[in-house]
Amino acid sequence: MIVALAGGTGGSKMVHGLALAGGQADLVGIINTGDDGPFYGLLVCPDLDINLYALAGVVADRGWGYADDTFHCLEGLATYGRDSWFGLGDRDLATHIHRTLMVADGATVSEVMDDLRLRLGVEARLHPMTDAPVRTIITTPTGEKRFQEYLVRDGAREDIDSIRIEGLAESTPAPGVIDAIEGAATIVIAPSSPIVSIGTILGVPGVRDAVAARRDRVIAVSPIIGNAPVEGPAHKFLRGAGYDECSALQMARIYQDVCGTFVIHESDAGDAPAIEALGMRAVVTDILMPDHAARERLARVVLGAMA
Ligand code: GDP
Repeated sequence: MIVALAGGTGGSKMVHGLALAGGQADLVGIINTGDDGPFYGLLVCPDLDINLYALAGVVADRGWGYADDTFHCLEGLATYGRDSWFGLGDRDLATHIHRTLMVADGATVSEVMDDLRLRLGVEARLHPMTDAPVRTIITTPTGEKRFQEYLVRDGAREDIDSIRIEGLAESTPAPGVIDAIEGAATIVIAPSSPIVSIGTILGVPGVRDAVAARRDRVIAVSPIIGNAPVEGPAHKFLRGAGYDECSALQMARIYQDVCGTFVIHESDAGDAPAIEALGMRAVVTDILMPDHAARERLARVVLGAMA
């Protein structure tokens, strides 16, 4: 069994690559739910759905949402004076309506995800990190924002003063999460945000210790090349969490206790000795995943390094 810890946009590329390289039957994703929240009374789980759609082969080319979706409902809501900054397409809304109705009938998010993946023909299992509500709150000089308000509505323009993950300390791992970590042949930490995706998953009580106990079987891929994230504002989240440096080496330091092998980009090869000095094995390769072939190639390197 291959287990991947993943967030959304960067994470789903790796999860999809692992599926392309090794098939879905033995693949388990443990996915961040700190970005989840209500829109128009519907429970939206962005990271779970990006991974679900990627594995189902229906994700839009932009990397999130349903392929060839339309936005008539959102346009209608805007006409009525409602916020319309979060891109929920018409087909995508069906997922959120179905999830919300199932939860209203007493289902957990885990049960919803199992239903969704079976209906979309996804063989891999996708576990939310927890079934408890966990919400990432970002504090900036202009106040507190929900994660999606900071990232999508406000374009992540502001510096971050602090990050709070509400509900995390009281949460428990979703069913199957600890068993998957304990039983995995290899655990892949996807190139997701170290603070608000992977950090949140590892922050569910019991998860960090379970992963650390398997450290020799854990491999992480850097989301950072040189001094910048491949895309998105991970540098702002790093600074908001108190890390001044944004680099692959800094990532390795953050994962030092949970991860024995760290994958960095060829242009960062000079950091390999410093990473090995942390007691980690460094693997140097092209870590960019612009297309399906690149995802599969990187996944083969990752799995090959742990064979
Ligand atoms: P979010 O939940 O949508 O914010 O997404 P994630 O946390 O899963 O991923 C965000 C991270 O993915 C960013 O820090 C990016 O640098 C990283 N990322 C995106 N595309 C790639 C890629 O092709 N290769 C690597 N190595 N990292 C990537």
